[in-house]
Amino acid sequence: MSESQNTSAAGSASDRPDFGRVSISDLGKVYDPEGANVVALEHCDLEFAPGDFVAIVGPSGCGKSTLLNILAGFDTPTSGTVTVDGTLLAAADKPPKPGPDRVVVFQQGALFPWKTVIENVTYGLLKQRNVGVSEARERAMSLLAKAGGLDRIADAYPGQLSSGMQRRVEILRALINNPRMLLLDEPFRAMDTVNKARMHQHLLDIFAADRKTILFITHDLEEALFLADRVVVMTTRPGTVRLDIVIDLPRPRTREMMLSDEYIRLKQQTIEAVHEEARKAFERGEREMA
Ligand code: ADP
Repeated sequence: MSESQNTSAAGSASDRPDFGRVSISDLGKVYDPEGANVVALEHCDLEFAPGDFVAIVGPSGCGKSTLLNILAGFDTPTSGTVTVDGTLLAAADKPPKPGPDRVVVFQQGALFPWKTVIENVTYGLLKQRNVGVSEARERAMSLLAKAGGLDRIADAYPGQLSSGMQRRVEILRALINNPRMLLLDEPFRAMDTVNKARMHQHLLDIFAADRKTILFITHDLEEALFLADRVVVMTTRPGTVRLDIVIDLPRPRTREMMLSDEYIRLKQQTIEAVHEEARKAFERGEREMA
């Protein structure tokens, strides 16, 4: 990671980074444990421009996690390719390889409980060994301070923090590596409505200050519409893109926008697609059970 990347990524909400272009081309994934031949993804094509915030929604089992696992370098596709900034990241004959340039934040926390916040946030940088301890600490403190004054909890342990704070620290731990993309797998799923709304605001503030290509997986359509620049609705298995819709609401986003005619129009359009796919998944489940 170079300093020039850092400089270009910082700035106002309209600033897009000059890296983080993701091309998913004709991606397919077949799970075949003992000949089961489960086609999880088929002919999946998607392009993300640097700094795009894309939410992926779709019924359970439509291949969202499969897609995320391939992007994260945890799994290999059966066909097709993923390239990031022109570099091949995933293909059938390429062994999967995770890296600090594409970090995943999951629903269940993944902070080291025996390390303090500052130790957690600096961990990845220090592991790469191209940054010294004092520089890593300085960068982490500055990130924490900018994210709503989290520098005050730098010496706390994760167990002393609320789940919302833990999730914010995790997102910062990912961002300090200046990743080409940030992968968020239903990070706020277990939260109640009030905490979820707070986390949305925190995430949008972080996105405005340090814009990155974000892929956000969720079951929650309102969350997707509120946060993202684009909402992708996937079909029921085999998962492919059913609808890819631009959320042309201005930033900064506000809750009042969720009452606007444009928001309601977008919601109607996406909800129909999601419900139709959920109905197909349900009917197929019935057939498979019969
Ligand atoms: P989602 O995240 O949308 O709920 P997944 O990507 O987890 O969907 O799963 C897509 C399909 O692939 C499902 O039918 C699931 O049962 C199947 N699947 C996922 N992982 C495996 C695996 N390791 N082996 C066999 N089938 C799998």
